[in-house]
Amino acid sequence: MIAFEGVSVEFGGARVLHGIDLRVRAGALCALVGPSGSGKSTLLRLVNRLVEPSAGAVRVRGEDVAALEPTRLRRSIGYAIQSVGLFPHRTVAQNIGTVPRLLGWERARIAARVEELLALVRLDAGLAGRFPAELSGGQAQRVGLARALAADPDILLMDEPFGAVDPIARRGLRAELRRIHAGTGKTVLLVTHDPGEALELATDLAVLRGGRLVASGTALELTAAPVDGFVRELMGGGD
Ligand code: ADP
Ligand code: MG
Repeated sequence: MIAFEGVSVEFGGARVLHGIDLRVRAGALCALVGPSGSGKSTLLRLVNRLVEPSAGAVRVRGEDVAALEPTRLRRSIGYAIQSVGLFPHRTVAQNIGTVPRLLGWERARIAARVEELLALVRLDAGLAGRFPAELSGGQAQRVGLARALAADPDILLMDEPFGAVDPIARRGLRAELRRIHAGTGKTVLLVTHDPGEALELATDLAVLRGGRLVASGTALELTAAPVDGFVRELMGGGD
């Protein structure tokens, strides 16, 4: 579903990703783990062309993203980030309906979809008319998740989506993500610096260190022998 083929990225001459080869199969929930600055966000942002490779290719659904129109590509991929980035002057319903509106859906269809998504992320329907400033951090993250899912993308990119919320809200959000992933078969690429989160949620793991992919495989493969090396790598990778 997503393939990185010998991908390197440079920023102003400094190489931050070195020849990454990684395939994410359809339906996987792949956790990208590694220390701060190891290149996790950069790797994720290659998928929706917020970052361009200096070498190699990124394929999405078999197509080289370099040949795809960026706006169209982005509307086909859900993207949720730590800072959420809700539009402050738009209501919860308007925020969730952003991509469907851009795609030209009819008003009634958007309204029905918003209602469905609020239920999916377990938010009270009464929140639809609120503004982002009137939400708790956990509620805002749920709205961000609903917005990312709005047009039912088959790929979901999540960059430390629960990093800014309290532990109880985070536990709830993880549960929603696990349920949504299990129920829809979406391909999810999740950046996290929390090994517990990775081990709890991921079907597949990719470990980055210093811009290099140092381990990848299914969670089962990587947590089976040689357990110690991998788990040490993972646990040592927190920041
Ligand atoms: P992570 O998400 O693992 O913390 P990032 O992918 O954000 O790591 O960053 C990897 C490296 O690339 C870091 O050294 C960071 O400073 C650098 N970097 C990231 N984005 C940019 C950018 N837009 N311009 C210059 N350097 C960047
Ligand atoms: Mg990051």
